[in-house]
Amino acid sequence: MTRADSLRAAARNVEQAAWGELYSTLMDCSEVLKELNPIQRANFLDGIKAELHRKQQGTCAACDQSIDLFSMEIDHIIPYTLGGGNERANLQLICRACNRRKGKSVDLLELLSYLEDRYLNLR
Ligand SMILES: [Zn+2]
Repeated sequence: MTRADSLRAAARNVEQAAWGELYSTLMDCSEVLKELNPIQRANFLDGIKAELHRKQQGTCAACDQSIDLFSMEIDHIIPYTLGGGNERANLQLICRACNRRKGKSVDLLELLSYLEDRYLNLR
């Protein structure tokens, strides 16, 4: 292994450890936020679904396929379980297949900004 290879490997380890730490810190923040300011799960109005469908021009936000309103599912961009709210900016319509594929995966940097925004809105 060349020096460059071993440095690259060391850098990758540091990066992975940092992402791991960021992840667990964000999960803690998300728990604290939920305790401070719990979000009530709302029954989504058909109106919101229709509005999102228009806004996305009838396409799935994840795969861009054109899909009818009734096959679309409302998705929290930042998952509800991580503190994502029901505000329009956090909602999108995706097709069932994409919704299943997505699971609970989340972009950590997106989650970080989201949690910061929510903290800023607390009294
Ligand atoms: Zn899709």
